[in-house]
Amino acid sequence: MKIAKLRGAHDFVIENMESPKIGKNECLIKVKACGVCHSEIDQWANTLSNLEYPRFIGHEVSGEIIQVGSQVEKFNPGDRVAVWVDQKGYASEVAVASERIFPIDDSVSFEEAMAEPLSCTTNGVIEADIELADTVALVGTGFMGLILLQQIKLKGATKVIAIDIRDDILEVATQLGADVTLNPNRVNIEKWVKKITDGKGVDAAFEVGGKQATLDLTSKIIRMEGKLIIFGYHPGRREIEDLGYWNWMAFKLINAHFRNMKTILQGADIGIKLLNSGKVQMKPLITHTFPLEEIEKAFQAAKNKPEGFIKSVITFR
Ligand SMILES: [Zn+2]
Repeated sequence: MKIAKLRGAHDFVIENMESPKIGKNECLIKVKACGVCHSEIDQWANTLSNLEYPRFIGHEVSGEIIQVGSQVEKFNPGDRVAVWVDQKGYASEVAVASERIFPIDDSVSFEEAMAEPLSCTTNGVIEADIELADTVALVGTGFMGLILLQQIKLKGATKVIAIDIRDDILEVATQLGADVTLNPNRVNIEKWVKKITDGKGVDAAFEVGGKQATLDLTSKIIRMEGKLIIFGYHPGRREIEDLGYWNWMAFKLINAHFRNMKTILQGADIGIKLLNSGKVQMKPLITHTFPLEEIEKAFQAAKNKPEGFIKSVITFR
């Protein structure tokens, strides 16, 4: 089988490796797609001193079961599935424990069947406890923000305000149900949110961008006693601009990150069910696909975000 090995900054090499041997409770998956995750960009763009290289990354995998362990009862060869893996996803085959495998419907393409991002957004929305008729802001509407948007709507929010500096992505947000879209490069966000919410601010705001600027902006548009949900991936040091203000405003702070496997797998299960039922759409989000040999290009696109870009996916025949 083929696998992409990351040797250092901008240094992927495709190697041939023996197929993984599966345990009694595992299945061997013929990988059909693996999404390029925002969280992987840093370790590819730079050789990070706190990580070991070479390394085998890739964790947003879907494919077809080709072999089933002796104790696995609920799956058969030929089943189409999304899987949870924490590494070795940029490979033509991967071994996965059966409880980390989620069946996908025939109506769902492999490219869109990503268990890990769906788990993160599902658990984020559950943790935020969005209520009926809430007004919710999303600060950053890239790939994750656009999934969150749909799930926030499902939870009963009546007004979702999508905020992003890219107009092309705000158009997609509108198609997927955003009620208002705002571009901070064009308008004063605080002023507009005030206008939309009768001067109060939103009931809940998801910080999705993962930057200091998005964190600062998020805290300025929430109503008194509203929820500030830190959903974005923050690889660097961040500061709270004015803790006194957060304190006075009585914000409910929610860190929407999850580390225990039970919660993660439960989120993936729910997320894939929503995808299978058509309640969540991923197809409009998959804008760039590449074969494994062009993994460098897939990462370049994810970093540089050309016009119309939302998500890179590595696909296999
Ligand atoms: Zn990911």
